[in-house]
Amino acid sequence: MALYTMKFGGTSVGSPEAIDQALTIIQRETQAGHRVVGIVSAMSGVTDSLLKTVKAAIQGDRWTFQEVNRDIRHRHEEATHRLIEPPPEREITLKKINDLLDEHLQLCEAITILGEATPRMIDAIVSFGERLSRRVVAAALDARGIPSQAFDGTQLIVTDNNYQDAEPLWEITSKQIKERLVPAIENGISPIITGFIGATPDGTITTLGRGGSDFSAAIIAAYIDSDELTIWTDVDGVMTTDPRIDKRAKVLPYVSYTEVGELAFYGAKVLHPKTVQPIIARNIPMRVRNTFNPEHPGTQIGADIVATSSVIKAVTSIRSISMLTVSGKGMLGVPGIAGRTFLATSRAGANILMISQSSSEQSFCFTVRDADANEVKYAVEDELRAEINHQDVDGVDILKEVVIVTVVGGGMRGTPGVAGRVFTTLGDHSINVISIAQGGSECSISFVIEEDALDEAVICLHDLALASVEDIN
Ligand code: ADP
Ligand code: ASP
Ligand code: MG
Repeated sequence: MALYTMKFGGTSVGSPEAIDQALTIIQRETQAGHRVVGIVSAMSGVTDSLLKTVKAAIQGDRWTFQEVNRDIRHRHEEATHRLIEPPPEREITLKKINDLLDEHLQLCEAITILGEATPRMIDAIVSFGERLSRRVVAAALDARGIPSQAFDGTQLIVTDNNYQDAEPLWEITSKQIKERLVPAIENGISPIITGFIGATPDGTITTLGRGGSDFSAAIIAAYIDSDELTIWTDVDGVMTTDPRIDKRAKVLPYVSYTEVGELAFYGAKVLHPKTVQPIIARNIPMRVRNTFNPEHPGTQIGADIVATSSVIKAVTSIRSISMLTVSGKGMLGVPGIAGRTFLATSRAGANILMISQSSSEQSFCFTVRDADANEVKYAVEDELRAEINHQDVDGVDILKEVVIVTVVGGGMRGTPGVAGRVFTTLGDHSINVISIAQGGSECSISFVIEEDALDEAVICLHDLALASVEDIN
């Protein structure tokens, strides 16, 4: 008897038909005698819609937030009517949905009165998506005769108060999961849990960042000691590139934890960047599979690195990036400037995606999201004020609206010529590379280019990755 953790993404619970399909996947395993823990996202589009209500509420646009609220209510009511019998359970679920959506309206109203929304309020609003979907899914599973219990992530995942991108407090999260969730599993119940959300130790709702349900599922899989974590989504697995950029993208039958971690960090939306963190130490096997094509084996993810002849297995990209350059003749050999720059960046609340330095030490550059760039520039200039006044440092230049493209492949370590092949390919396509960095794990190379060249760069490098797929089995 195995214990499986299964996460169903937004599309996988996005309609009554999709939920039905997800339930069939769970039922197949429970009928075979296995135990299943389900983690669910909000129905597709609901998180975006909830964010829209925040914006409307700030602007005092009651019509829009009420309209969106009605639409979300309608989708959940329809799913409840279609999936949940008999009537008493259906009525209970409908009442819960309506109570939650009334609460949503009250919060929107409060934002309208205040005229602003704090990150804490935004998290409270977006949490409704998962809190609604898990009620429908849990009740529908029960209606199929599979005893289920619904849990909110707020009861299990305890986080810091870094709203919108909260970090779990591992020890107490582990304790909560062991005390609250494990007994339900041992009693033969299939828990259905909200992804994406957690709560601070004093109970305030937080979220783990966009796409965070994958991370929730990995945290739970780790602490219940699951035999496997399956991410059920709307594509057949992790692909050689984003299928929306290049339709030729193929499913990779196998990738390592490190490779998939790099892919996710550098923009592959299929997984939240922190997903592998909790399971890597425990070596829990993971799979990415398609809810709508469950016969496909998907992508297996594990610890081994499988080398392929062309080394490069996948290409990813992130848009809306700014590159900041710190330069000055007086920087040569002065210790600590880079360290202070990065500390100032983190104080400004920004994540650094890529760093590179030329050997002359007269400048170094790093990239952050466009939205953070100005604030980071001011924070770093403030930090280096004395050096700027002494003219040791010239200042911080920003190059906005560039993109990062990353090629990933575990065999890069110790394989000469990979970077050469990448940059020759880009040169053949006359793509100008602005800066380059190799990941610390030596399984990725990232570079910054102009936004206009993104599609061409991804497609020409993708040719190298496509050649790899046949080698992996
Ligand atoms: P879910 O709601 O199931 O979490 P997401 O929309 O978050 O699904 O992620 C799945 C989507 O990620 C796919 O539909 C695909 O368009 C996109 N994607 C981007 N890069 C990749 C990649 N390398 N492999 C697979 N899918 C990718
Ligand atoms: N619903 C959240 C989002 O859209 C979390 C998730 O789907 O993983 O970002
Ligand atoms: Mg996702």
